[in-house]
Amino acid sequence: MVKGYMKYDVLRERLRHRVVTVLAGVVVFCTTYALILPAITLEKQCDIPEHTHTDACYAQVTSVEKRVPVCSAKTLEIHRHTADCYDANGNPTCGYADFVVHSHDSRCYDETGNLWCPLSEIEAHRHTADCYALPEGHTHAEGCYTSVRGDLVCGEHVHTDACYTETAVLACGLEESEEHQHDENCYETSRELTCGIDSDHSHTDACYEWEQVLSCDLPTDSAEDAQPVLVCTKPEIVLHRHTPDCFDADGNLICGQTQILEHRHSDACFEAVAEPVDTGKLTCTDTAHVHTARCYGTWELVCGQEEHTHSEACKPEETVFCGKDAHTHGEACRDENGELVCGTEEPPARTWRRRSYGSRPSRG
Ligand SMILES: [Zn+2]
Ligand SMILES: [Zn+2]
Ligand SMILES: [Zn+2]
Ligand SMILES: [Zn+2]
Ligand SMILES: [Zn+2]
Ligand SMILES: [Zn+2]
Ligand SMILES: [Zn+2]
Ligand SMILES: [Zn+2]
Repeated sequence: MVKGYMKYDVLRERLRHRVVTVLAGVVVFCTTYALILPAITLEKQCDIPEHTHTDACYAQVTSVEKRVPVCSAKTLEIHRHTADCYDANGNPTCGYADFVVHSHDSRCYDETGNLWCPLSEIEAHRHTADCYALPEGHTHAEGCYTSVRGDLVCGEHVHTDACYTETAVLACGLEESEEHQHDENCYETSRELTCGIDSDHSHTDACYEWEQVLSCDLPTDSAEDAQPVLVCTKPEIVLHRHTPDCFDADGNLICGQTQILEHRHSDACFEAVAEPVDTGKLTCTDTAHVHTARCYGTWELVCGQEEHTHSEACKPEETVFCGKDAHTHGEACRDENGELVCGTEEPPARTWRRRSYGSRPSRG
């Protein structure tokens, strides 16, 4: 505005008359233009070409792309131990794990929810302080004792052999004669209780004293210098990828670690495979017409165009506004020194405005 003001100031005296005349002309033009505006915009149309889809706009879908998992221990090149990988104790010493750390995620399941992932779920784990505990002092419990039978404490009489008197009784039923001489077989032993004590008691466990004897040899108090012991049952699985630094000059592994990698399926674990679709299946639900080729299978719009027919909505929203009712500083806007006093800002000579005058943003 400053620039405009200076320019105006310089030309003011010389061009005052002409400017006023020109401004008057502009006002007349603008009034006329505003009156014919609707007529002009009605004739203006949008740049979108008119288009109505025809059969030529469609192509039949003959195959769909399916993502097929191609990830396996083989594609991941997971190490497989050979006989050479083990030491005499059967522990692998090759420095490479024959598994990858993996936990199933949504990519491990196909679209029907079935797990296709052939990998085992193996969690990485490095023992932390929580994996160790101080050995606790042992407190003897019931199981630490064994019962030992002690003295008989029952005063009841239990008959023994000594309580009986045995007598031989002739039982053959024959008289001694020339044909029969009694021998051992002719006698039966008769047992008769002769102790004179009436008792049918026989000792049970309850008749004896029982002693609880400690059979546990665990120390009952924790030693002062006790070392924490590993109480974690998880195997330690620490992710590590061998780098050139893991090998010595002769190529021997010297890092002392096992290469354990983690695998999470990525796009590379899947392959796109074109699967043919049924192109002869009736997919049209319209029963009131004679089916055409497009009523079978699935068709895709390939014309790349949008359907468009020019209408009222095609009239451009923006239109030129001549600035008829906008403020242009005039004689009355300045004091005798030429300083602006009107307090209204002068807009740029030509502006693009919304056609709806009501929504004109207020200036200042
Ligand atoms: Zn089309
Ligand atoms: Zn190996
Ligand atoms: Zn998985
Ligand atoms: Zn642990
Ligand atoms: Zn007894
Ligand atoms: Zn290493
Ligand atoms: Zn994978
Ligand atoms: Zn049809």
